[in-house]
Amino acid sequence: MPITGIYGPEDFDQPAHGHSPVPARGRANPAGRAGALPMPSLEWTPEVERSTAHLYERVKNVISPLEWPLMAPTIKAINELKKTRGAVILAHNYQTPEIFHCVADIRGDSLQLAIEASKVKSDIIVQCGVHFMAETSKILNPHKTVLIPDSRAGCSLASSITGADVRLLRERFPGVPVVAYVNTSADVKAEVDICCTSSNAVQVVESLNAPTVIFLPDQYLAKYVATQTDVKIIAWKGACEVHERFTGDELRAYREADPTVQIIAHPECPPDVLAEADFTGSTAHMINWVRNKHPKRVVMITECSMADNVQAELPDVEMVRPCNLCPHMKRITLPKILDSLVLLREEVTVDPLIAERARRSVERMINLKN
Ligand code: SF4
Repeated sequence: MPITGIYGPEDFDQPAHGHSPVPARGRANPAGRAGALPMPSLEWTPEVERSTAHLYERVKNVISPLEWPLMAPTIKAINELKKTRGAVILAHNYQTPEIFHCVADIRGDSLQLAIEASKVKSDIIVQCGVHFMAETSKILNPHKTVLIPDSRAGCSLASSITGADVRLLRERFPGVPVVAYVNTSADVKAEVDICCTSSNAVQVVESLNAPTVIFLPDQYLAKYVATQTDVKIIAWKGACEVHERFTGDELRAYREADPTVQIIAHPECPPDVLAEADFTGSTAHMINWVRNKHPKRVVMITECSMADNVQAELPDVEMVRPCNLCPHMKRITLPKILDSLVLLREEVTVDPLIAERARRSVERMINLKN
C-alpha cells in the first residue's frame, strides 16, 4: 500500500536541525599512540610477490598485473600486523576488491557485519565501511577497541536524522512503534524500538504486530517495504546519495541495448528504478541471486565496487557496471587501514548510556534473525 506520509526536519517547529554530512572525527587512541608500531617496509620484492600470489589469484579479474605491485606490499603488511595486534577486519560489500578479498576477515552487508561483530573474539576490530557501521560494532562490543581507518566516512542517510528528530516524531505519532534502518547514528538507534537492514526490513516491520509503523530514515526503502506489507508506513525524507541517482530511464536503456540482460537493484533506489528491475534485494540478496542464477549478463544497480567484488568471484558472469561510487566508502583505503593498525587509530567511541539503549534496538533485530 502507499506510504501514509513522509516527514522531514522542516515539518517540526524546532531549532536549526544541525545535521552534519560528516560525523565528528574519531580520535587516535592515546594508549595506541604510545603503543605505535614501526611502519613496515612497503617495497615490492620477490618475497612479497611470492607470499601474496594466492591473494592475487582472488582479484586477478579486476586488478591488473600493473596495479598489483603497488598494492601487494601494503596488503602483506596489513595481514602481518593483524596477527601482531590480534585484530580482525570487517569489510562491507561496497569496499574495493583489494580490501574486500585480500585483507578482510569478515565480509558482508550491514546485517551480516552486525551479527558477526557481536561474535568477534579479537580485542581490536578494524571496520572497513562507514562510521555508523563502526558505531554498531562498538555498540555490540563496548569493551573492545573499534577503529575506523577514516572517521570522515559518513553516510547521507545517517546524517539525515538525529535522535531529537525521532523524539519529535514520537510526539507527533504517540504509541506508533519506530523502526530505524541501521544506517543511522547511535543517537538515533537509542531512540527507536528496533533496527533493521535492507535484508530484513519487511520481517522487522511485521514483527511489531502494529497497524502503523514509523520507518526511518530512507524514504525509498520505506516505499519498497510498503509494497511488501499491509502495515501502514510513516517515512522520513532521507535518501542514499548513491542509489537515488539511478533512474528508470537508465535501466530501460540497458534493456533496450540488450533485451536478455538481467537487472537487479537495491531497495534504496527510487520506485521507478525498482519497477524496471528483475529482482530487488539487499546487497547480500543480490550477491546470492547472481551466485544462484548465474546469468550471462547482469546489471547491478548499487554501489559499483560490489560488482567488482562479485566479478572477482564469478569471472564467467558479465557484469555491466553503472559506476555510482559511494564517496564515503571510498575514503577507506589500504594505506589508511595500515595506519590504523600501526597507530591504533581512529578509535570510535559511543557514550555508554546511549550505547546501552542503542544496543537493545540492534540486539532485538539480531535476535529476531536468529
Ligand atoms: S552507499 Fe548510500 S547508504 Fe551506503 S554508506 Fe554510501 S551514502 Fe550511505
